[in-house]
Amino acid sequence: MGLAGRGVNVGPLAIMTAHPARYWHLLEDGRIQCDLCPRLCKLHDGQQGLCFVRERQGGAMMLTTYGRSSGFCIDPVEKKPLNHFLPGTPIFSFGTAGCNLTCKFCQNWDISKAREVDRLNDAASPELIAEAARQLGCRSVAFTYNDPVIFLEYAVDVARECRARGIKTVAVTAGYISAEARPEFFSAMDAANVDLKAFSEEFYQSLCSAHLDPVLETLRYLCRETSVWVEITTLLIPGQNDSDAELTALSRWVHDELGPDVPLHFSAFHPDWRMREIPGTPPETLTRARAIALGQGLHYVYTGNVHDPKGGSTWCPGCGALLIERDWYQLGHWGLDAKGCCATCGTAIAGRFEPRPGKWGRQRQPVRLQSGGG
Ligand code: SF4
Repeated sequence: MGLAGRGVNVGPLAIMTAHPARYWHLLEDGRIQCDLCPRLCKLHDGQQGLCFVRERQGGAMMLTTYGRSSGFCIDPVEKKPLNHFLPGTPIFSFGTAGCNLTCKFCQNWDISKAREVDRLNDAASPELIAEAARQLGCRSVAFTYNDPVIFLEYAVDVARECRARGIKTVAVTAGYISAEARPEFFSAMDAANVDLKAFSEEFYQSLCSAHLDPVLETLRYLCRETSVWVEITTLLIPGQNDSDAELTALSRWVHDELGPDVPLHFSAFHPDWRMREIPGTPPETLTRARAIALGQGLHYVYTGNVHDPKGGSTWCPGCGALLIERDWYQLGHWGLDAKGCCATCGTAIAGRFEPRPGKWGRQRQPVRLQSGGG
């Protein structure tokens, strides 16, 4: 099966839904507490957690979306966004339904806020996803569109099958996961893009009904205690998280706590779902944010969701040379040597690079997994 295939025949499509969930315990009052994310939902029999996909059934917790997806697509890896992880390569992307945050500005609300498992049209076992990615020539698989933390058991099993085939794994996540579950979840991942939605507890509380500290802890954990390649995305919402003071504090924290080499993406908000009254992010705001972060000493700062070849490209922190030119997701000039160093001055560039970039380009290709019977 070549890359042109829009449907891939991968054998029988086993339909699975409820699967035993991990990270919970029984409370003295008879309820079960889910320990997967900081919400610590406490449930009676038959109740679902806030994420909607983890449910108490009798004396145990179940993941109700195991083996089911909201759809599959081959994307450029840059769309996750990851700019320093196998640039130019195709990434097999999928998600399920539900989310453990309640962001009023959600840009994927049709999937993440889905309360109907009926939306999960595509069924696929971990083996079949990994095999489809291999047959379609994808270098990696992304758990994306909704937060993979809430389908940990499924994501971890898919990751195992991917790695058995030499395929890398990527989590696109808000990082809202308990300390107990972090090691298992992230040990299954080769890279992660973590949303740092703002740098204020008030923002997290009022717009996401969540807390900032667990996200910062996840970022510290990833950068200090794992070999996962990490990039950060902050969606800038006019008037909510885009002040000079907040952007300075956020950038300084990333620099001081995680180091200057962690790429930071500032992306543009588009009015959607429950925040239609707020205008889209002006391009100048993204440019201002990028300048602030660079001024705080970060080496790789990007603008996203806007046409900005300068802000979307990678520049050498040593000599200023253009290293990876990007126009949207299309790569142009390549200024790295075979070891991932600046070809002009020899500065080592942080990331996971191969001698040559991929050639996937900016295209998106939806994929249907088709049963081969049997
Ligand atoms: S993962 Fe879901 S059920 Fe578990 S604590 Fe978080 S929101 Fe609640």
